[in-house]
Amino acid sequence: MNSITVRDKEFVSYLTEDQIQQRIVKLAEELTTDYKDKNPLFIGVLNGSFMFVADLMKQLSIDCEIAFIRLSSYAGMESTGNVKQVLGLQDNVFGRHIVLLEDIVDSGLTMEQTVAFFEDRGPKSIEIATLLLKPESLEKDLSLKYVGFEIPEKFVVGYGLDYDGHGRNLKDIYQLKEG
Ligand code: 5GP
Ligand code: MG
Repeated sequence: MNSITVRDKEFVSYLTEDQIQQRIVKLAEELTTDYKDKNPLFIGVLNGSFMFVADLMKQLSIDCEIAFIRLSSYAGMESTGNVKQVLGLQDNVFGRHIVLLEDIVDSGLTMEQTVAFFEDRGPKSIEIATLLLKPESLEKDLSLKYVGFEIPEKFVVGYGLDYDGHGRNLKDIYQLKEG
């Protein structure tokens, strides 16, 4: 099996570039059906989603807009270590059909907070499209309409996802090697 090293850890091949691209074509077909004539605003969550957003958008020919946000934890507040601040939103969300584009949903906390941020701003609709989902880790009652792959509770890297800042440039997705 194809294995690589990122920093101090070994990873094994899990999803190939071909598998990812084929699944993205299917997701784009679903989005095309659901959002034709709705001028959706796709919002990618940086940094992890950058490859997913680029490849998904290339498969869409409907009229749409694309934006990016970045999440950061609030600094200097006690017991809110996981509360995320949404940075970089320039677009007016009111009355728009919003689709959040995320690399991976793990516990679901990040997306729960992000959805709440957008719901406060009066969108017409809001959905999540995530390339990866770890169903066994999911703790939040999130509506996840578009999911690329359901994966086990193991750390993955590549295709935008990092380990300690590294590995985002890999074309395939790799799983942490056991032991
Ligand atoms: P959640 O809030 O759903 O628990 O976590 C979501 C975030 O955790 C993702 O956006 C991602 O940054 C990080 N994350 C969760 N699982 C993985 C993983 O297996 N690999 C990488 N690189 N990041 C992960
Ligand atoms: Mg992410």
